[in-house]
Amino acid sequence: MKKRRIRTGSAILCVLLLMITLCAAGCGNDNTKKQNQNQETSTQMTEQIENTTQEAENTEVTEPPEETQQTEQTEQAEGVVLDANGIPQGFSATDDTVWVTTNVNLRGENNAESEILDIIPKSTEVKRVADSPEWAYVEYNGSRGFVTMDYVTTEEPDQGQNAAGAGNVTRVYSSGGGNGHGQVVVIDAGHQSQGDSAQEPNGPGSSTMKARVTGGTHGTTTGVYEYQLTLTIAQQLQTELTNRGYTVYMTRTSHDVNISNKERAEYANSVGADICIRIHANGADSSSANGALALAPSASNPYVADLSADSIRLSQCILNDYCNTTGMKNCGVTTSDTMTGINWCNMPVTILELGYMTNPSDDTNMENSDYQWNMVQGIANGVDSYFQ
Ligand SMILES: [Zn+2]
Repeated sequence: MKKRRIRTGSAILCVLLLMITLCAAGCGNDNTKKQNQNQETSTQMTEQIENTTQEAENTEVTEPPEETQQTEQTEQAEGVVLDANGIPQGFSATDDTVWVTTNVNLRGENNAESEILDIIPKSTEVKRVADSPEWAYVEYNGSRGFVTMDYVTTEEPDQGQNAAGAGNVTRVYSSGGGNGHGQVVVIDAGHQSQGDSAQEPNGPGSSTMKARVTGGTHGTTTGVYEYQLTLTIAQQLQTELTNRGYTVYMTRTSHDVNISNKERAEYANSVGADICIRIHANGADSSSANGALALAPSASNPYVADLSADSIRLSQCILNDYCNTTGMKNCGVTTSDTMTGINWCNMPVTILELGYMTNPSDDTNMENSDYQWNMVQGIANGVDSYFQ
């Protein structure tokens, strides 16, 4: 059998080995980051979550940062060997129709670290060209790639499921909002590419010290980092709110910054913000945990008790509209008095946890551009509701 070797493997191995070494060398920092993360987070839920996620980061030494990953992806994609019939080495040829059971990544190679070529929406019919026990090699949108067999079925989903499935994302357009007439909104895209374990007071006059800023969680299915997702959404939200008549300020517009949670709040104070929206995403031990939630200071907060009622109302407005436009599960509003970025604010403030990056469906949805549109519309609708 004539084999068409489209790419070579040895260069790739070298790159991988080098990266594993580099990542392993960075683990010490991650441990520090983990401790800081524990200090940064406040609700038990969030604390447990981010702790877990950090542990996952520590063990997944092959998951490099964005820039490095690009190199890896290109190199790894060159490792696929097809036979004369276009069947990947080690795969059996098939020729049937299958459906994906959730929004799933179409990958360039049969491993979970390889390049994501596309995201196939839930319940989509695809042609299966070949398979192995763990991967299906399928044709979608004119390209061929690999999908994990965990999310492939030969049974056609019924129509009802198809229509209601979160995977069939259609854009929900603005519900006629546009209440903006110059109100100042600060959007804080949570985290940054590197955490900073140096300490800062948890609130004005507080002797409790917490890490300036932590590294955040990451998508266990998509590999996207929380600091990337939060900025992606924050920037789209900036455009949307500006279009709706608000005056928008961003605490950051790139990943390579070092701005503490206290400094983010002080920035919001300095521009005279009417509200501050802090964008984050969640992680948990269990991959089944899913949905969005929002955090606000309680009425007994030592620093911003007078902002509690408005912050809770802001949180409810945003969370409810967000869940309405996305279909994301609504996990409710929780109060927290240990968030540095809340305690230093002098205007109503909310932390929106967009969804669980450790849940395959939430994680994949949140990387879908149509879904992101709905996320942004929902948050903006919530801002409109708040100012109504
Ligand atoms: Zn976060």
